[in-house]
Amino acid sequence: MPAIAYVNGKFFPIEDAVVSVEDRGFQLGDGIYEVLRTYRGRLHAVEEHMRRLFRSLDAIGLKHSFTAAGLEGIIVEAVKRAGFADSLVYLQITRGATKRAKEFPKDTEPTLVITVRKLELPSAAMREQGVAILTADDIRWQRCDIKTVCLLPNVLVSQQAKAAGCFEALFVEKDGTINECASANIFIVAAGVVATPPLGLRILSGITREEVIALAHKNGVPMQERRVTLDELLAADEVFLTGTTVEVLSIVKVNDRPVGAGKPGLVTQQLHELFRGLAG
Ligand code: PLP
Repeated sequence: MPAIAYVNGKFFPIEDAVVSVEDRGFQLGDGIYEVLRTYRGRLHAVEEHMRRLFRSLDAIGLKHSFTAAGLEGIIVEAVKRAGFADSLVYLQITRGATKRAKEFPKDTEPTLVITVRKLELPSAAMREQGVAILTADDIRWQRCDIKTVCLLPNVLVSQQAKAAGCFEALFVEKDGTINECASANIFIVAAGVVATPPLGLRILSGITREEVIALAHKNGVPMQERRVTLDELLAADEVFLTGTTVEVLSIVKVNDRPVGAGKPGLVTQQLHELFRGLAG
């Protein structure tokens, strides 16, 4: 089954899909994106992803005539054409293709790109043993709540993490406040209480984060949204990350130091099982 792409109204095999060299996404990083997945062919949390997508469009003042129903219709068609049970859906909207200038162009149509590929899931070993992360200075801009395609800081720390044999990089402020990973939100568990950094300008409002918080509240798992420090994380019983493709994944090592018992913990497992009940 081929991976496919949709570009401005047409479907292509992914290798044949192109955008203009003048596209502002390519030239300036002037665009936003979303990542969704399917479970057995069905889109997960599509309304939540659409809400966040429109928030990102508003936040960067991108003029458009897209509707959630219209975009969802294209995504559903793309997923159907690709035919994978578990699909990774990537959607990007930029301010269009035009002569390069920083200010917003007049009368330029946005570019819409959607790709659908087979989703690569975390391996059984990663699930059973947990993963390692590396900490990194938070060198990003001040609007990490916008899901923008300007991802160079995330690219650089992800490469550092990979080079160190780690699964993810965790952004940490100079004062020791932890924010989030390069592609996931972060949670700690200490004395049975789960804590995660609060919403604001320093983190993305992860859809999986929201789902896990709601599941914890519903199932009587103590949950706090508050400032969390690196010292707290290093002393925690359990640490885990959340994201669309990883769901809930145990972190067992931070900068080569074991976390808690050095293996996936019970609260993390419980929350992952609850999540699978909701999504899987
Ligand atoms: N934080 C960042 C920086 C991300 O890029 C992502 C997802 O890609 C997340 C958090 C997790 O968000 P979601 O659960 O919506 O996938």
